[in-house]
Amino acid sequence: MSYPTLSGRTAVVTGAASGMGEATARLLAANGARVALLARRKDRLAELAEELTAAGGVALAVPVDVTDQAAVDAAAAAVHQAFGPADLVVNNAGVMLPNPVTDGRLDEWTRMIDTNLTGALRIVRAFTADLLEAAAAGRTADLVSISSIGAHLTFPNYAVYSATKAALTHLSASLRTELGPRDVRVTTVEPGLTDTELGDHLDNPALTEQLQTMVEAIGPLAAEDVADLVAYATSRPRHVNLRQLIVLPTRQA
Ligand code: NDP
Repeated sequence: MSYPTLSGRTAVVTGAASGMGEATARLLAANGARVALLARRKDRLAELAEELTAAGGVALAVPVDVTDQAAVDAAAAAVHQAFGPADLVVNNAGVMLPNPVTDGRLDEWTRMIDTNLTGALRIVRAFTADLLEAAAAGRTADLVSISSIGAHLTFPNYAVYSATKAALTHLSASLRTELGPRDVRVTTVEPGLTDTELGDHLDNPALTEQLQTMVEAIGPLAAEDVADLVAYATSRPRHVNLRQLIVLPTRQA
């Protein structure tokens, strides 16, 4: 898809090493945005930056773990040095580690909360001043959060993951009350089942099998479907806020 109004924007995409983040970075770069690629896997980011640059885009690999405040500070400094202030921030990095709550997996709970919620907050802290500056100068400014349909559903074994996504959706709604009146558009995207690497980190074979069965039965979205929605929402005129977008595979009723 072509979104000419994205040309000249300066984007930061977290979780750009794979899945929706990678697809979003590709689409933004193809439409003329400068894109900072944030995630932990250096090699993946370097390869993607090289590919996007070879195709005529502008991309910067910024390896960072969003659970590490010093690393986020350094990443923000690297983005600012290379590109100046950002005007389109996509908070997409996330992990999904389901298990019965009775297993008491504090390690997984901590990782999900630190990545999906506190990680997103660290990025908000790092780039909100940029967004406010862009908006005050009359430019379009976007803060997009990739939450999940899980924010609205209850599903056994996914209690903590869903709680992080419900919190992210609520955080996004609250931020809208602070930033919207200052012309920063805040958008929450809530996808359903999507074909990415998200399910690769489960350590419970029964839940891996359950997820696989769901994937086969439903037929997931592609990461590109979600990227297209992000590009569509952020390419609207600046007074139009598609504020909360649920996107599911048609068969995920
Ligand atoms: P992927 O696993 O493919 O992508 C997740 C991305 O997050 C990776 O690029 C990963 O890169 C990055 N990441 C994970 N932990 C960290 C960290 N600590 N610091 C920085 N980056 C990190 O899955 P998706 O594309 O599916 O996930 C994107 C978002 O979409 C997530 O927030 C997920 O919860 C959400 N979502 C996914 C759905 C699905 O069905 N797939 C449905 C609804 C929502 P690296 O490992 O290199 O750091």
